[in-house]
Amino acid sequence: MVYILLIVLALVVTALVSNRATRECRWREYRQPDGPIWRCAACGAETRTENGKPPRLCLRNNS
Ligand SMILES: [Zn+2]
Repeated sequence: MVYILLIVLALVVTALVSNRATRECRWREYRQPDGPIWRCAACGAETRTENGKPPRLCLRNNS
């Protein structure tokens, strides 16, 4: 049973590392009258956020 937990843990760590690779997005803020639009300079994704901060993940992989 311990080995199963270790394998699951390894998979989670791998997923986290791969997610960090997608966090290299360079979000740039485009101010608009009704709130900023964030555009990723790396993949071209555009989004709005509720708190006015750039997204933490690249939206490229969500489509
Ligand atoms: Zn991106």
